[in-house]
Amino acid sequence: MGKALIIGCGGVAGVVIHKCCQNSDVFEEIMIASRTKSKCDAIKEQLEGRTPTKIRTAKVDADNVDELCALIDEYKPDIVMNIALPYQDLTIMDACLKCGVNYMDTANYEPEDTDDPAWRAIYEKRCREAGFTAYFDYSWQWAYKEKFEKAGLTALLGSGFDPGVTQAYCAYAQKHLFDQIDTIDILDCNGGDHGYPFATNFNPEINLREVSAPGSYWEDGHWVEIPAMSIKREYDFDQVGRKDMYLLHHEEIESLAKNIPNVKRIRFFMTFGQSYLTHMKCLENVGMLSTTPIEFEGHQIVPIQFLKALLPDPATLGPRTKGKTNIGCIFTGKKDGKEKTAYIYNVCDHEACYREVGSQAISYTTGVPAMIGAAMLMTGKWSKPGVYTVEEFDPDPYMEALNKWGLPWQVNGNPVLVD
Ligand code: NDP
Repeated sequence: MGKALIIGCGGVAGVVIHKCCQNSDVFEEIMIASRTKSKCDAIKEQLEGRTPTKIRTAKVDADNVDELCALIDEYKPDIVMNIALPYQDLTIMDACLKCGVNYMDTANYEPEDTDDPAWRAIYEKRCREAGFTAYFDYSWQWAYKEKFEKAGLTALLGSGFDPGVTQAYCAYAQKHLFDQIDTIDILDCNGGDHGYPFATNFNPEINLREVSAPGSYWEDGHWVEIPAMSIKREYDFDQVGRKDMYLLHHEEIESLAKNIPNVKRIRFFMTFGQSYLTHMKCLENVGMLSTTPIEFEGHQIVPIQFLKALLPDPATLGPRTKGKTNIGCIFTGKKDGKEKTAYIYNVCDHEACYREVGSQAISYTTGVPAMIGAAMLMTGKWSKPGVYTVEEFDPDPYMEALNKWGLPWQVNGNPVLVD
């Protein structure tokens, strides 16, 4: 059917590439382009001959629009899949607009340098006006809406698991299960164990920025912000068991608050073990999570980037990780005038993911929906010019594809609610 340019070749991209190669009716050709070309070549070597998909590789600096455009003009893809980092979202969107090609990603924009005065001025205004202080928000990418509309192109934002699948669950619940959704609790449980005292399951810099930030939730039309990790609940997850989970700010709350009519409250909880939290607090206290460069023996170093170099690469956790994830959304609301609840969720097994594609379940649960999101655009099942999040499209073909491509979902019609 067509060609995809995949940018990035880390933990999540590894799964995306495997999945595109399984779905070679849609992804007839792929180009893997990243900063370190040897990683792209290694995965090409691993897959070539085992898939009808034709694979090419290239080196690209995705912070550089001209370099991206040269690659896009030469390869002429039907879609650019941004599986690099949120730092590159805007440059890749710019390149897509310049070259006339559709775009998708798995996480919303945040800047690499949070001390940049130009960015900081806009950020501080947004904190005051919107009421949440996370470094990432949708405003930067939503500002491209008109440009994509005028160009007749589609940008699909955040097609991973959360954001991504969680919004497809919301759109499905809105379409099929409820007349009115009152509350949404998004639960992200990782019951996996990789055996290290401390490691993150995806890019450490992005992950630690996210979980060390203040938490926030949407209630009665506005944000409520709370100190990091200050709301804790215990929940008994199907096939995982009892886990402590903490309320975090998460990007899909922002778009769901806009797109689910009259929703009263949206919260996001993620499970963490005590050892993870103790390590994180300690690293934070000594300044290792800082993004502000410091002078060290004549060199400028960014503490969190130095920490990343010390921590295990998430892409190498696959063979060590055992256990399951359980991620989904609990809904309360009304159907036919009666109160109703539902939990839509997926359970994913780390070891099964490793057997299939050589990755742990966090990369798998992100990479599969990234492939599916791109396939929705490539097959024309989702197509409208502009910039959209997952819940703004028909959930049915996406939900069907989740069952087909390795993330089957189920509905519990009587879940235990989170107080
Ligand atoms: P990794 O750090 O493992 O991989 C990132 C890749 O991007 C690396 O290959 C890196 O190159 C490449 N890259 C970084 N900067 C550039 C650049 N300037 N030009 C070209 N390539 C670049 O990250 P993950 O795979 O763990 O995460 C990928 C994305 O997925 C992130 O945006 C993350 O936020 C998102 N994510 C989304 C989730 C969801 O559910 N929605 C869940 C988990 C992650 P190099 O190899 O040289 O370092």
